[in-house]
Amino acid sequence: MRVLETVAAFREARRAHAVLGFAPTMGFLHDGHLSLVARARAENPAVAASLFVNPTQFGDARDLLLYPRDLPGDLAKLERAGVDLVFAPSAQEMYPPGAATRIEVGAIAEVLEGASRPGHFAGVATVVAKLFSIVAPTRAYFGRKDAQQVAVVRRMVVDLDLPVEIVACETVRDPDGLALSSRNARLSPAGRAVAPALHRALLRAQAAVAAGARDAEELRAAMREALAAEPLIALDYVSVADPDTLAELDRVDAPALASLAARIGDVRLIDNLPLTPKTP
Ligand code: AMP
Repeated sequence: MRVLETVAAFREARRAHAVLGFAPTMGFLHDGHLSLVARARAENPAVAASLFVNPTQFGDARDLLLYPRDLPGDLAKLERAGVDLVFAPSAQEMYPPGAATRIEVGAIAEVLEGASRPGHFAGVATVVAKLFSIVAPTRAYFGRKDAQQVAVVRRMVVDLDLPVEIVACETVRDPDGLALSSRNARLSPAGRAVAPALHRALLRAQAAVAAGARDAEELRAAMREALAAEPLIALDYVSVADPDTLAELDRVDAPALASLAARIGDVRLIDNLPLTPKTP
């Protein structure tokens, strides 16, 4: 495995591979990240991963400061997972003085996470476009846990004619249902104990739809009610939306996405599940 810290060094190393799978990450790797790498490994002759905590997608300086990091641990995991190339640049390498261009993806980036975290998806789109330019992957692997991120990246790739195939991978969860996240490490024991309620609220919406519920507002209310009983959970939003545009729905007559965001202490968590109405 080769670890490259500069754009020029990565581009040089990349020339050895015709077809390359790529998993971009912010590090502090868990089995969710490693599932992207494993899928990339299975579908491509060579695999790259990136480790970069992107400052421009954090609105909150404290959140950026507290974001967990473990470069030696991450490199050991990537090596065991059979990664060929790791791109681990500094913030200075990615954003040298004078860097000014930002990619705005439009309406899809302004709802949900975009509404709660202004500028977040411009930061994500810009760094993903830069990583695609540097890494030049054949296929890039993203987790459905960040469903809006997948939708934003897909929109950008279509709009900018970027020559990369986007592959969305299933969310990996702890046995109690909590979606794996680097942020989970910052939960208090009490916070960790209540956190699976987020997944249970989404399961409740999913089960209701499977049983015939169609009214989106009733589904949102059911998720809110499921979480109202947990005093440690401060809900940010619940959503029942079109899976591609993320526009809120009135009725669930076709596949949709239930998603939510909440704070547990000072840790902000997001999760989602697909809603699949039975066709009559
Ligand atoms: P992050 O390091 O949080 O930016 O995540 C890097 C990639 O890993 C993104 O595509 C995430 O959607 C994906 N990812 C994070 N957590 C999970 C998970 N629990 N299951 C699957 N993919 C995940």
